[in-house]
Amino acid sequence: MKVVFATKNANKVEEVKKILGPDYEVVSMTEAGIDIDIVEDGETFEENAIKKAEQVMRACNEIVIADDSGLEVDYLNGEPGVLSARYMGEDTPYSVKNQNIIDRLKNARGSQRSARFVCAVAAALPGKYTIIAQECVEGEIAKEPKGENGFGYDPIFYIPKYKKTTAELTMEEKNKISHRGKAFRVLAERLKRVNW
Ligand code: IMP
Repeated sequence: MKVVFATKNANKVEEVKKILGPDYEVVSMTEAGIDIDIVEDGETFEENAIKKAEQVMRACNEIVIADDSGLEVDYLNGEPGVLSARYMGEDTPYSVKNQNIIDRLKNARGSQRSARFVCAVAAALPGKYTIIAQECVEGEIAKEPKGENGFGYDPIFYIPKYKKTTAELTMEEKNKISHRGKAFRVLAERLKRVNW
């Protein structure tokens, strides 16, 4: 099954190709010849994922998948949330963003440090409907950044079960448990059940 992935991020395309496996031919927006900028102004991850998938589907009339993800910190009332990429400015290095979150949690103890990565995915089916899935991985904000793998907030996202941050996990280990891995696997199952 051919699906266009509404992202310009080549790393994400590779990651999702691995998650979805050989039953899916995943092509990026660039490979599909689509160049549109989508404003991610939704209030929820789901809204943004649906908006991206449906806009690109209307441009190419193919099955289009899109995702939106971010970090929710309970002590910060869910911040940075849907604004995760734009937190403190899009071009601010993650070393600075991560230290800022650690500093804002200096008085938070134990369960007050709870946080989760959330990923919403949508598949817009031409002439039909849009399928959605949302999954998360629970963890807590570390007292200091650790690990070199991954990206973004991975160095401060600590998973007690593994006694590691997600930046200390390999990509395979992270895909098994991550918000994105889980959400795309659920979406793939739902796509298989569509009555074409
Ligand atoms: P988007 O889904 O590409 O819009 O990503 C939103 C932002 O959420 C990213 O730029 C990161 O800041 C953050 N984020 C989402 N998933 C992860 C992850 O797996 N690790 C670290 N940061 C993440």
